[in-house]
Amino acid sequence: MIFAVVCSGGVRIDLIEFLPMTLQRKEPFTIARGSSAISEVVFLSVHSGNRVGQGCAAPTDVTRENIHSALNAMQTFARSLMGLEFDRPSQIRDWADRAIPGMPSAKAALDIALHDLAAQEARKPLHVYLGAKRDRMRTDMTIGIMDTASAVARAERWVGVGFRALKIKVGRDWREDVKRVKAIRRAVGPEIEFRVDGNGGYSWNDALAFARHLRGEGVMIFEQPVPVDDWEGMRALTESSPIPIMADEMVLTADDAKKLRWANAARGVNLKLMKHGGIVPTAEVNTICESAGYPTMVGCMGEPQLSIAAGLAFALAQKNVRWIDLDSHFNLAADPSSGLRFENGDLVASPAPGLGITLA
Ligand SMILES: [Mg+2]
Repeated sequence: MIFAVVCSGGVRIDLIEFLPMTLQRKEPFTIARGSSAISEVVFLSVHSGNRVGQGCAAPTDVTRENIHSALNAMQTFARSLMGLEFDRPSQIRDWADRAIPGMPSAKAALDIALHDLAAQEARKPLHVYLGAKRDRMRTDMTIGIMDTASAVARAERWVGVGFRALKIKVGRDWREDVKRVKAIRRAVGPEIEFRVDGNGGYSWNDALAFARHLRGEGVMIFEQPVPVDDWEGMRALTESSPIPIMADEMVLTADDAKKLRWANAARGVNLKLMKHGGIVPTAEVNTICESAGYPTMVGCMGEPQLSIAAGLAFALAQKNVRWIDLDSHFNLAADPSSGLRFENGDLVASPAPGLGITLA
């Protein structure tokens, strides 16, 4: 099959390679939708002369992919893009969308690798290449669903190592969830920022009861309280919840963000490179959010430092991104990628050209 890709000059794609890996978590991670002890990812490399750009995909049910469909998409990238030259990573994006519908995490791997290459070529760290004026942002740490005593112990441990924000997973039993959030607040004190995430697990009236019982507990964001297709529930909660509602799993595309605005179904959006297809489409979704008056967060799936670094670079370069939730790499038993630093609660981008990430 021949794809018409009209690009010239710039960076030449000599070879694309990819490798699936199963990353073990330090401990099983439980959210409203289920529990997992592993994260399945695919690393992708784009070779250009003596440079290599690195990317990574974390396909999940949220992105409507699995490891096999992601590998198939990458096979198509590898076959079709060899020999192509590009000036800007955005040129490849249009081709990828015509060639393959959906598959955002596979496309994110390609987009991240092309950005890594382009920023290396420009001899700039990726966040600087994207226009960032800063190199660090405060990230939260996520506490999965577990019994209250264990959750309190985890929260104290993470605050002890420097985290200034916690995201607490909820969405199974709202009374238990209220007890757990309040117990964590008592343990860590009033200074720590709190966010909660229902991952679509509540009915709208349980979500409202939960939010009302947490009034005064300093919870700043309530992510995806109800299932992705419950637009009416999201709209009702956006009007009534004392904690501002944020959409996550229900926003994958730019059209989803527009629909969210038309339905007045949230007050903010959690962006993820894996959901939208990389830096280029995530910037489009963020632009729609910005025009709608929605501040955004940049979050992650079960990702290693490699793609977390890309999410951080994107967040640093966008003034509408107010929060980051880039913590999954802290919970991997062994991360083959390294290069990010964590200082005083902030995630710090590498000063090296490109992503600045080293692969073991
Ligand atoms: Mg979420």
